[in-house]
Amino acid sequence: MLLFGFYFFCTGASVVAQSLDIDLFHHCLYSVENFNDRLYSFGEEPRVKAMVAEICAVTGVEQDFEVVSATVPTVGAVRDSTKNYLLYSPLYAQRLLDENPRLLYVALAHEVGHFARNHRLDGKFRLKEETAADEFMGRALFHLPAFTSLPFSLELMGLESFAYDSLYAPRKRAEFVSAGWLAEEGLVRSNANLGYLDSKENQDALPIPAFKLHGCPRPFHFPQEVIASCETLADVDELLQVALQQLGYDRHGYFHVPNGFAILTPIEQINADGQALKGEDRWEDYPAGTDYQGILDYLSKLLRPREGYFRLFVFVVSDQNVPRESEKMDSGKAKDWLRSGGDRLPVQIGKDTVSSQHKASVFIYEFTASKAVQRIREYCENRLPVIDHLTKSGLEQALSRRKR
Ligand SMILES: [Zn+2]
Repeated sequence: MLLFGFYFFCTGASVVAQSLDIDLFHHCLYSVENFNDRLYSFGEEPRVKAMVAEICAVTGVEQDFEVVSATVPTVGAVRDSTKNYLLYSPLYAQRLLDENPRLLYVALAHEVGHFARNHRLDGKFRLKEETAADEFMGRALFHLPAFTSLPFSLELMGLESFAYDSLYAPRKRAEFVSAGWLAEEGLVRSNANLGYLDSKENQDALPIPAFKLHGCPRPFHFPQEVIASCETLADVDELLQVALQQLGYDRHGYFHVPNGFAILTPIEQINADGQALKGEDRWEDYPAGTDYQGILDYLSKLLRPREGYFRLFVFVVSDQNVPRESEKMDSGKAKDWLRSGGDRLPVQIGKDTVSSQHKASVFIYEFTASKAVQRIREYCENRLPVIDHLTKSGLEQALSRRKR
């Protein structure tokens, strides 16, 4: 920093560099992973704020973060304890604006995506949060006039290095960006043509996260009184949210099932007796926006440094059996899923009334990673009784307390 001194020249006028007091722990940096030791703010690049405002406008995102020029290597999203910051280097921004301004849109849209999806950015769910930010970026690019086609956008994206590329399986990043682009394209087409999503072919072409059971999970059906006080599906969601957050499951994905919804917890590492491991050892990361088969495929490819036991809960609230085959979804709900991307329960689904036929169930998947193969495999021989998983995780107690 001393090489630069404390004065910088920008648009002909000298600018005093101000030290920035921002906690950088929760972050995503677009092209490199580490910040400089000390941060200063200097020299604005006014076009950056305009581009961020444009990205927010086309995606309908309320800007709950401040755009600040700083001595960062590229651009990054940072969540301080009090505020959200989109930090950018004016030098980096100027380079991209000179070379190809669209490259700057790509990086900024990705970082806006982290705020739009309310990410923690503490690295615990790095893959899930990066893939979700990429999916958001695909949505934004679809609406920006500078991006004329999806293949063109994907090619362009490859021109600038991305800090977390090594987390993705080959060509997977393009899939997440494409999913966002195609979801927006589907929405535009379905809005222009009310019957668009009534066609199964069109639905299948869209990245709707419909949940289907695969593999060998074991079910547990909660007593009816657990959800007896709930009038709507949103009430059931709230009940589950409270229990899940209390037990440390503060990241999960929403999926559609007929007349209801499913919530998947992240895969967690457990002891032989079903107790979750402490701290970082507990969690596994997985990509966002994939269907359940996709997650199982992904997990089967994960290499583990050591053997262990793992678990995944799928909560299902529905008045029907959980589909094992693809089922038709009505166009209204399909549109909601397109908008929600599975990060929360869509309002339209939440409004649905809970009938006496609705049941709350949980499906438990067990996985093991053996010393020999070091890959996570689904374990179908019922290592632990279902009730042990429910009591050792604390779910049984947390949900029983809600009985009326
Ligand atoms: Zn990111």
